Amino acid sequence: MNTQELLQYDKDHLWHPYTSTTNPLPVHMVEKAERCTIHLATGEKLIDGMSSWWAAVHGYNHPVLNHAIEEQLKSMSHIMFGGFTHEPATILAQRLIDITPELLQKVFYCDSGSVAVEVAMKMALQYWHSKNEPHKVKFATIRNGYHGDTWHAMSVCDPSTGMHHIFNGRLPIHFFADQPQSRFTGNLLDKDLLALQELFEKHHNEIAAFILEPIVQGAGGMWFYTPQYLKAVRELCNEYNVLLIADEIATGFGRTGELFACNYANISPDIMCLGKAITGGYVSFATTLATNDVADTISNGSPNVFMHGPTFMGNPLACSVAIASIDLLLKSDWKNKVNHIEYKLTEGLSSCKELEIVNDVRCLGAIGVVELKESVNMAVIQKAFVEKGVWVRPFGKLVYLMPPFIITDKELDKLCLAVREVIYETMEITIESLI
Ligand code: PMP
Repeated sequence: MNTQELLQYDKDHLWHPYTSTTNPLPVHMVEKAERCTIHLATGEKLIDGMSSWWAAVHGYNHPVLNHAIEEQLKSMSHIMFGGFTHEPATILAQRLIDITPELLQKVFYCDSGSVAVEVAMKMALQYWHSKNEPHKVKFATIRNGYHGDTWHAMSVCDPSTGMHHIFNGRLPIHFFADQPQSRFTGNLLDKDLLALQELFEKHHNEIAAFILEPIVQGAGGMWFYTPQYLKAVRELCNEYNVLLIADEIATGFGRTGELFACNYANISPDIMCLGKAITGGYVSFATTLATNDVADTISNGSPNVFMHGPTFMGNPLACSVAIASIDLLLKSDWKNKVNHIEYKLTEGLSSCKELEIVNDVRCLGAIGVVELKESVNMAVIQKAFVEKGVWVRPFGKLVYLMPPFIITDKELDKLCLAVREVIYETMEITIESLI
């Protein structure tokens, strides 16, 4: 099939993320991707501002990551994890335990981020079941969160912007505190703390765990809140006997400027989910880590095993590339690089604040966000970005950049210029006068 035929077949038969089959937005045929450049079949080259949804921190087609997978292929691509183990799974666990908050000592391998969240929630429920506290069956979280698209992950996503309205009456009902208004750089506001205290006071007897994205709420609104809020949640969880699940699927592995966003508040959760960048964006893979208390309580309960075990658990290819990606990250000057990206994004995007249609501009680590007052027209804006030679995929009111960490200044300048230009063009004013 030639490119046109492939695209037509795709249009007729393939479902893309969050897309209609009868009226899909156009998709672009990718031939290859290298470093921070995506090569289209049309010959166009796009600078990547998305890291394939936060995952490809080292860019694409990285020789070290390719080598790790190629070497692993020579011995085995997969072997069942029930009854077997292997070096990549064991070494990866050691790496993860070494770099994550210290109380996390047990590693459960999952297939994707959403599954890691399901596993975390199941662990919390089984923990209280084992402790003979069967009334603790609900979850608490904060509004504007996002934790994945599977059933229970969906139930703790934001009730308005998530999918609750579609599945109203069928999703489990949980408790939602208002989104914290305390900004990353500011202090914890009284009203944020009070909302939390009220929720814990009223409902702690029913709550198995509080789940949240530490510091950065991603797909639910690209919002950065103060570490003091995260600290307060940890303290309230301790006080009221509620487990804390940190969903670091989007924030883990340096994206926010700390290796894990929990480090900003110097807290250790009871359960932590990792995904996305864990394999440097090579293959779908995730982990749920737990404290010895969580793991041992489940294991000493009845049933005395944790009831989960996917077919591809601990896949050796995924484990090998994850080890290579983590080693590559830790050996690199990632912190300075991410701080520098934050500086460049701030420099490149701040002028958007002046515009009438812009509500807010915020940058943290390798994340730069321009929040508009109105939702974007995806068909129009996506086309405009591709025409400017960049890959930026906004959603709702949010135009944002989260490039691979290896991005050059020149590439970042091009990405920021494209964001400024496309937003200016959206206002239908002449670009020349504003750049
Ligand atoms: N949690 C968070 C914080 C996420 O950002 C995502 C993915 N955007 C998920 C969970 C779900 O991960 P996956 O898409 O790999 O299922």
